[in-house]
Amino acid sequence: MYSKINTAVSWGIEGLGIKIETHILRGMPNHILVGLPSTVIKESKERVRSAIKSIGVKFSDDRIVQNLYPADLKKEGSHLDLPLAIGILACTEVLNGKSFDKLGFIGELALNGDIQPISNVLSLIEGLVSAGISHIVMPYDNRVESRFINNVTIYPYSTLQELVADLASESLKKEVEQEKYDFIEFKRNESEFENDYNEVYGQGHALRAMEIAMLGRHNLLLIGPPGCGKSMIAERIPSIMPPLSINERIELTKIYGVADGETKGMIKYRPFRSPHHSISKIGLVGGGMKVLPGEISKAHNGVLFLDEIGEFKKDAIESLREPLSSGKVQLSRGGRSLEYPSQFMLVATMNPCPCGHFLSKSGLCNCKVQSIKNYMGKLSWPILDRIDMTVLMDAVDLSSELSEGKSSQFIFQRVEAAGDFKRERTSEKMRNQGQQCELGGEFLNQTSIEIIKRYEQKGKLSMRSVVKLVKIARSIADLEQSLIIEKKHIFEAYTFLSAQVMKKFFI
Ligand SMILES: [Zn+2]
Repeated sequence: MYSKINTAVSWGIEGLGIKIETHILRGMPNHILVGLPSTVIKESKERVRSAIKSIGVKFSDDRIVQNLYPADLKKEGSHLDLPLAIGILACTEVLNGKSFDKLGFIGELALNGDIQPISNVLSLIEGLVSAGISHIVMPYDNRVESRFINNVTIYPYSTLQELVADLASESLKKEVEQEKYDFIEFKRNESEFENDYNEVYGQGHALRAMEIAMLGRHNLLLIGPPGCGKSMIAERIPSIMPPLSINERIELTKIYGVADGETKGMIKYRPFRSPHHSISKIGLVGGGMKVLPGEISKAHNGVLFLDEIGEFKKDAIESLREPLSSGKVQLSRGGRSLEYPSQFMLVATMNPCPCGHFLSKSGLCNCKVQSIKNYMGKLSWPILDRIDMTVLMDAVDLSSELSEGKSSQFIFQRVEAAGDFKRERTSEKMRNQGQQCELGGEFLNQTSIEIIKRYEQKGKLSMRSVVKLVKIARSIADLEQSLIIEKKHIFEAYTFLSAQVMKKFFI
């Protein structure tokens, strides 16, 4: 007897539709799985046997051969338990004669026949859909995630027993349609953020940089003596990050589904990842035996915070070059290449010298010029070149009157409003208005263009730095909701420009 069942496997965060063929032959009792199954799938045999017996069906005493097709693709995941079990049952009198051509199955089985939730359900549904299967049986506990994917009919089940009974009577129960979008809208909850920017006193320049960087997703480096508040400022970033769009949430949920191997439901917030400096290159960019995504992909659409970047392993930091430029990382597995998205904003901190007090008003630094250069040299030029903004901080003078920082809610709303303005500005309608300058395709007035030309003529800025300067100035103008980049925006941007600030260390 023979059956063919549709299911899917993941490849990176993509899903690929596959088929499971089952043949029950006369012969010695045996259960053989072929078609490059991983160890987890080989263990499926025991779960499948036990789950089938638990619903009162006699497990076949004959020789069962199951083939995962296409055979040359390595397959991972316990979610194949359910289609393997259905494939066997379709060869028995329980489900014999039923057609499953238009149905897809995904789900892990417990020994008692319960259908368990799985971690990467979104990728798998997409894999089935791309293979032309839009009617999908899946674990009941994964139904919330499935609501984010359009044009599929979901049949959520929590036990094999109930599912088999409904398949036999051809009366599968659909997901209730009207509930679909109730779960999608997600509101920011202020009380979920532990720390607020109003707890940061002084450091107005750094806070301003954070606001600009957040709007323009500029990579940012904070340099200052120990205890000046660099980490305190960075750790409060989650409280001002804009909300995720639906597509960003889907993409992140797929990445986390692959990365953690545990069910987390839909990702709600933009990620803020803060790995320890002992992290390996693989931990940071991804890879290893299973080619899992690294921190840079877990920080996709969010922030990667590297506290004391000079302390990280050199090869780990250097491996950020390519992803910082391309927004993705290419890894290879079994001769095939695999890609994870990694469009993160880099925020890093470092001390200005070995003792930490160079350029500080405290005057405590006794470091030699060469040792300062060596210290800063830990950050290579190619990496520095990918960091648009740098802020030099100093310890706050506690004897003077300090202004309280603006609240996170206040900064968040400004960034949100500026983001709306930016979207409007870059829309087709606005782009066709007025004069654009060749500098990064942005709107600059005549005075701004002249200032930039003067910087260039004096040899103060390279062409690359000019492009960055205009990018930062663009974000500053957006915060003011100004279509034109004016000279005040250029002047302020110049104070944050990495190439400019770093000159203080390399004279
Ligand atoms: Zn020093």
